[in-house]
Amino acid sequence: MTAASAPVDVLVVGAGLAGLCAARELQRAGRSVCVLDKGRGVGGRLASRRMGAAVLDHGAQYFTLRSAQARNLLAAWFEDGTLQEWARGFALAGGGKKLDEVPRYIAPQGMNVLAKLLATGLPVTTSVRVASVRIGAAGWEVQTESGAVYAARTLLLTAPVPQSLELLSAGDVQIDAVHAAALGGIEYKRCIALLACLYGPSAVPAPGAVWFDGEPVSWLADNAHKRSPKDVDGALTIHAGPQYSLENWDEPDEVVTRELFGAVHRYLGAAVRESQLQRWRYSQPINPLAESCVVSSAGGVPVVFAGDAFGGPRVEGAILSGLAAAEQIVALMPAA
Ligand SMILES: Cc1cc2nc3c(=O)[nH]c(=O)nc-3n(C[C@H](O)[C@H](O)[C@H](O)COP(=O)(O)OP(=O)(O)OC[C@H]3O[C@@H](n4cnc5c(N)ncnc54)[C@H](O)[C@@H]3O)c2cc1C
Repeated sequence: MTAASAPVDVLVVGAGLAGLCAARELQRAGRSVCVLDKGRGVGGRLASRRMGAAVLDHGAQYFTLRSAQARNLLAAWFEDGTLQEWARGFALAGGGKKLDEVPRYIAPQGMNVLAKLLATGLPVTTSVRVASVRIGAAGWEVQTESGAVYAARTLLLTAPVPQSLELLSAGDVQIDAVHAAALGGIEYKRCIALLACLYGPSAVPAPGAVWFDGEPVSWLADNAHKRSPKDVDGALTIHAGPQYSLENWDEPDEVVTRELFGAVHRYLGAAVRESQLQRWRYSQPINPLAESCVVSSAGGVPVVFAGDAFGGPRVEGAILSGLAAAEQIVALMPAA
């Protein structure tokens, strides 16, 4: 174990949307921050993967915007074309289309671009897995898997809630009992995602996605339609439904891959060149809490929980939760 670094005002665990939005606002308000993420890059479940020349979104597929606050945060990136409207509905697997008035937005270069933009100018360190958090001399001591120790006056936990609670219990930290009970009850759906690049165009109809009944597949998108200009060869994201994902979680990749391709075969349109599976253990919260974040404490030292489990199990919910957490922390910690 190495000696703790000089304490920052706020240590943020997680460089997903909630963590990045919170860190930006905290930095803007003059608080020192440090963001740690176990992933190779930023974005968490706002995830895109390159396969050959194609970019495939394998977590969030699009986002909606209902609040002025989130809309204002992203306005400049809509103006310069980084973010664009994709569609107002998609094909149904049973036939026909379901259209409504709700614009679904994307980053045509890959959804993860939004996270990279939000992270610009922030002190984010990736490929660092936090192993435990405990109370230390300056407030919190955050220990990483490799033994490094970071000190902070306030802790903001934005990982899926069961993972955040594990960090506290690994450090033998007890938070307020009412908060512990509420947070301990949050559950998540699982999602197995199959990514596939094709030798030619897919048979997915414009605007590029199909809503399924839910099991075994809930969603199929051809990422080629999301790119600008449109890619020629199909690049599919297939999301298994929550029930199928739960029941087949430990099945071998080749079994799951065969079954999911079987469920969408009429949309393939061309032979599969390459495929990969991704298992999302915590894909979306089933029972998010109504509040935008939870401010708790352990022995009088503040710890804040944020993410899509607070306010809304989606991209916009995570953004709003991060902003709300920053506001609460600024109020808790008057500037020095
Ligand atoms: C398959 C799938 C499809 C989805 N589709 C949509 C959609 O179409 N539209 C929509 O709006 N939303 C969708 N969502 C939900 C959306 O992606 C999330 O609501 C949002 O991205 C959550 O952001 P977050 O910051 O709360 O959490 P996350 O993005 O999960 O960020 C948490 C971060 O914490 C990090 N972390 C965890 N533990 C540790 C640790 N010990 N040490 C360091 N770092 C750690 C993780 O690496 C991660 O980067 C989808 C999600 C999935 C998985």
